[in-house]
This record gives sequence, structure tokens and C-alpha cells, in this order.
Amino acid sequence: MSAARRVVILGSTGSIGRSALSVAAHLGSKLKVTGLAAGSSAKELWSQARAVKPAWLALADPAAAAWIKSQAAKSKGYQPRVLAGPEALVQLVQRAPADLVLTAVVGAVGLKPTLAAIERGRHIALANKETLVAAGALVSAAARRHRVRVLPVDSEHNAIFQCLEAVPNPAHVKRLVLTASGGPFRGRSAAQLKSVRVADALKHPTWAMGPKITVDSATLMNKGLEVIEAHWLFGLDYGRIDVVVHPQSVIHSMVETIDGSMLAQLGPTDMRLPIQHAFTWPEKTAHAMPALDLLALPALTFEAPDLRRFPCLALAYRAGRAGGSAPAALNAANEVAVEAFLKGRLSFTGIPALLAGVLSRFLTRPSSERSARNLDQVLAADAWGRRAAAEALAKKGKA
Ligand code: MG
Repeated sequence: MSAARRVVILGSTGSIGRSALSVAAHLGSKLKVTGLAAGSSAKELWSQARAVKPAWLALADPAAAAWIKSQAAKSKGYQPRVLAGPEALVQLVQRAPADLVLTAVVGAVGLKPTLAAIERGRHIALANKETLVAAGALVSAAARRHRVRVLPVDSEHNAIFQCLEAVPNPAHVKRLVLTASGGPFRGRSAAQLKSVRVADALKHPTWAMGPKITVDSATLMNKGLEVIEAHWLFGLDYGRIDVVVHPQSVIHSMVETIDGSMLAQLGPTDMRLPIQHAFTWPEKTAHAMPALDLLALPALTFEAPDLRRFPCLALAYRAGRAGGSAPAALNAANEVAVEAFLKGRLSFTGIPALLAGVLSRFLTRPSSERSARNLDQVLAADAWGRRAAAEALAKKGKA
């Protein structure tokens, strides 16, 4: 790369955002961070901003933005432009100069800023899988229209992306195999799953991540969302996207070709690896992490996912195959269910039970209310999913 690649990071105070800033520090003059955005973590955003000095900052929470403005007023030298409010992330990607936008916010809230970045012709490093789950058709079409590359940062999709670079002819691909760690409850019986606590669900065996994705990993909904994400990123039917549980998380995913080869990408369980891949692609730069030590690895094992104990994976396939806005509704309901679980208002096994009910209800709606041809329809399905999940929770509360 000659000139520094200009990058905007949406969600810089989250788990992926912090790793991204560590990668940016490692890449030095190869990368220039021009904008940082967060929801409400003002103190952490301000401390990040003083270190990397982006010209633009955005905070969805107006009070948090006001605090940053007051700090900036007191500081000498560095004077960022600060955007505030619910549209701040969209405004940031429209105004900050950038070659690449890393979308690392959590949940469907990432959809509008990602679309806005694509419409401005910014390439996307996608860590916000909910965006593709909710609006895969729209986002893919917009990316094609604006000749924008969507570089997957999700470790499984990043692995598949790298494997597919060795298979340039799509007709040579037989299927994709997403690996799943199986989460912290892989070996638990159905009865044991009924009584798992929030703290247990937050202990992921192989990856350190934010709370929402960690709970999704425990229910296997994360893998379900990743199946839908893979469908949109790589354009394969659901019948050609499989999931295998691989508890060691050493193989990050695989591609099988029609002549019987299985291509795999292996690496340490460290998100800086796929982030750096997306930041520097198509170049490669030496990394700052300990390399994978093959001789120190445990035996690599594989097993089929148990859809009876972890029904969320099957629900995601069902929503993905139904198409239209079904994944948007399921994803939104899942966000509500996970939050209720984290607040102790819903049991662990209550999550799939609630989502199964919401998805069945959604699929009985008239087909005109299940399509996802424009952003309004996607947002309506998202709102419907949130409402349906809240109603189901309220009923549970009364029961
Ligand atoms: Mg993943």
C-alpha cells in the first residue's frame, strides 16, 4: 500500500473496536483512523480519540457527546468534530473521509450506517453480522451497485473468504463448512440447560467477546446468524452451508470443492487476525500476535451440532430459507430475548422457546408483510420482531 488507508471505526469501544485500534497501532503509518463512533461510552471514546486523533467522533447518546465536547473545549491542540444523536453514525460515515468503514457495533442498529457507508462508496470491513442477517439482499445489492467490497471480519467468514481466494471459479465450490465452538454448554443435558445462569453463559471456552455475541454463542444462535451471513456474503444456497462443532476453534471454517478437497483456515483465536486481514487486504502485513503453535495444539475434534438441545441454529436456517424479512424479525426478537436473559427475566432455554413462537407467528403473516425489498420493510419486520418478543415476555411474566 502506498498512501495510508483511511479507516472509520463504528463501535470503537466494544470488543472488536478495541482490537481494531490495537491493529491500527500495529500497522502504524499504513493506516489512518479518521473517525471513531460509539454508543454512550464517552470516557473510553475520549481516551481512544486522544491517542489516535481522528478528525471526527460520533456518539449516539447526546449526553455522552456533550461530555466529550466539554472535554475537547478544555483541551489544547486536538479538536475533533463531534456528532451526536441517533443519526450520528450515519452522519459520520457520510462526512469523515475514508476508504474503509469497520462496522463493529452490535445488533441491527448497524444497518443504517453500513448502508450509508456503502452509498458513499466506502469499502466495508463487516463485523456487524446482524446487518447482513436483517437486510442481506439490500446490502448485497447496494454493494454491487456502488462497487463496494464487503470484507468479512467475523472469523468464520474471514476464513471462508481466504479459502475462496484459492477457488476463483464459484462452480468449483461444493459447500461451506462453518465451525462452531459449541459454546460453554456443549456437553450439558437438556435438563441442565434449564438452570444455567447468566454468568455461566458469559464464560466462552475459546473466544473473549462482548455479552450479546457470547450469549448467542451459547444458544448457537450466533452460528445460525452466521449461516445467514454466509449465504449473503458468498451467494450459496442454505443446503450448501453446513455447521460442524469443533470445540478447539483452531480451524476457523472450511470450503469443500467439487473434486473432494477440503480447504481450511487455521489460526489463533484472536480477532486481531481477521481485522488485520480486512484492514490490509489484498496486501498482507506481518502480525503482532503469537503464531499458532501446531505442536502445542490439542487434538482437533468434530461433531454434529445438537439441534434438539440448541434449537436456535435450526430456527435460523428456517428463517433464512423462508427469506424475505423473516431473518430480520428473528434477529430482532433474539436481541430482545438475549437482553431479557442477561437481565434475569428469561431462562436460557426460554430463549429458543420464545423465538420459535415468534418465528412461527411471523411466518403466518401475509406474504406482503414478509418481504424485504426496501429498508422500510426491513425496519418494519425488525420492529414487529421486537414487539412480538416483548409481548411473549409480558405473557410469561403474567403466567
Ligand atoms: Mg464468528
